[in-house]
Amino acid sequence: MFRFIFILLSLFSLLTIPASAAVPVPSLKPGTEIVLPKTRAPGARYFKGQIPYPVLKPLKSAAKIARKPVIVIDPGHGGTDPGAIGVKGTHEKVITTKAANELADRLRRSGRYTVILTRTSDSYVEHDDRLRIARRGQADLFISIHADSAGSSAKGATVYTLADRAKGRQKRIVNNQNWILDVDLSEQTDPVGDILVDLAQRKTKSQSDAFAEILLNELSGKVDLIGNSHRRAGYYVLLAPDVPAVLLELGYLSNGVDEKRLRTKAYRDKITGSVERAIDRYMDQR
Ligand SMILES: [Zn+2]
Repeated sequence: MFRFIFILLSLFSLLTIPASAAVPVPSLKPGTEIVLPKTRAPGARYFKGQIPYPVLKPLKSAAKIARKPVIVIDPGHGGTDPGAIGVKGTHEKVITTKAANELADRLRRSGRYTVILTRTSDSYVEHDDRLRIARRGQADLFISIHADSAGSSAKGATVYTLADRAKGRQKRIVNNQNWILDVDLSEQTDPVGDILVDLAQRKTKSQSDAFAEILLNELSGKVDLIGNSHRRAGYYVLLAPDVPAVLLELGYLSNGVDEKRLRTKAYRDKITGSVERAIDRYMDQR
């Protein structure tokens, strides 16, 4: 009963706040948040009974919120480097260029993403230039597209993320190329040595793994997957410590069935459609 009266009184006191105490709430721009001071700051700005004026503060991640997620698609090989050669002579670079351009078209049509390709034509791009494009574009996700080659029996898609053993190599690249990492150091008291890179690596690794799992989940049932389909490797294009990245092997050109279907747009559509849905899901849960 007392509790009920207390609630009534509280409600009443809320209703009777004088009009002068009404605080204009500034309209929020994307990437800003309202911060109410915990204690009332002394000074002429505040009057008795008034609520302190909210302060607008840019969010730490403002730049990321205000823009569309950036997806960098990297068609493997190209130009003088044909990549794997299929049993019927198909060049890997031809398949990767087609699949990458088709995926880019899909993502652009959706209007949700800014899409950057590391190459659009049959040209050779150095590995570190591919990474530089991803980092300069502030990629939220980097997807390198390849088609594999092994014994004739292996077939199906594989998704690779960076292996733990490549961490040292990753650090050396950061140092050699003087990369500046954008890492939130608010929790960090002693940002010395490799801590920056460690922090970036840890975050990026869990994001890459999360995307790989979603991607495999989307691909499964729609296209063939090889057993143990989430694999880890030290591929150079996966080395940026601040860009979540996967390398997708569409299938095996050394397998007649895979080669034949990878040449058809219908099969590539199944794959690029799954990649698009995976990107949507990944971005929704971030
Ligand atoms: Zn390749």
